Amino acid sequence: MKIVTTILAALLAFSASAQSPVGSALPAWTRGTLDIHQISTGTGNSALIVLPDGTTLLVDAGPSGAAIAKYVEGALGPAAPRLDYAILTHFHSDHLGGIADVAARVPIGVLIDRGDDYLTPPDDDRTFSRYRGFLDARARKGGSRAEAIRVGRANQIVPLRDRATFPSVEIRTVAANGVVWTGDGDRVARIFPPLDTIPAGDRPSENVCSIGLRLRYGRFDFFTGVDMPGVPDAGAPEWQSVETAVARAIGPTDVHVVNHHGSIDPGAPSSFRCCDRAC
Ligand SMILES: [Zn+2]
Repeated sequence: MKIVTTILAALLAFSASAQSPVGSALPAWTRGTLDIHQISTGTGNSALIVLPDGTTLLVDAGPSGAAIAKYVEGALGPAAPRLDYAILTHFHSDHLGGIADVAARVPIGVLIDRGDDYLTPPDDDRTFSRYRGFLDARARKGGSRAEAIRVGRANQIVPLRDRATFPSVEIRTVAANGVVWTGDGDRVARIFPPLDTIPAGDRPSENVCSIGLRLRYGRFDFFTGVDMPGVPDAGAPEWQSVETAVARAIGPTDVHVVNHHGSIDPGAPSSFRCCDRAC
């Protein structure tokens, strides 16, 4: 699979208001600037975020990681690159397939996934078993195991390098596994019914369990819900519209990555009514 390392969505330099034409490289990160690189991986998801204090996050690692690692090295160089966080939003190969390749070239501090206590893939799932092998190898080398996402919190993913200087940076864990932030303090709501009441055909898929994150810097809001759906498949229950519950919590948002790679199931009108600043 050809992986193109073009920056698709640039982003925002609050201090310099810089915006690069599509297809051109972003200027080098500077202190006080929030950079969001939505890396084109062909068929998967991967985003590199550099917070204003220099803290680095990778959100997903695409289907394969060599080109992502190369991109990260280029974006974070010439100093030795490091990812302070890597967040794997769900256990599909187009989101975590490349994590071992990335980790082989770029040190990763805290690894976060959706945890192993809610509908994890079966043991014979090759992607999941490879991921578990990666975690075991990482632990043998002294690395930490993956933390489970804690939904509703603004203190799990934080600026690590100089938080005091940038108090308006906030990363809110908005959704995962059917638990959605309510927008009120750290409160969350479980929007999926109890598993033992759900017919087998309606059980939550990996996509509806995706982690969603809101990143805030001053008055700027960015949201990525990765593969969470907004318009359930025909006949599927309404509670599978995770986007709708998320939109009620996060409200108007400046930049919203279209979920599920722009497939047909995200983009519920109800969620856009809530999220669109123009409305
Ligand atoms: Zn996907």
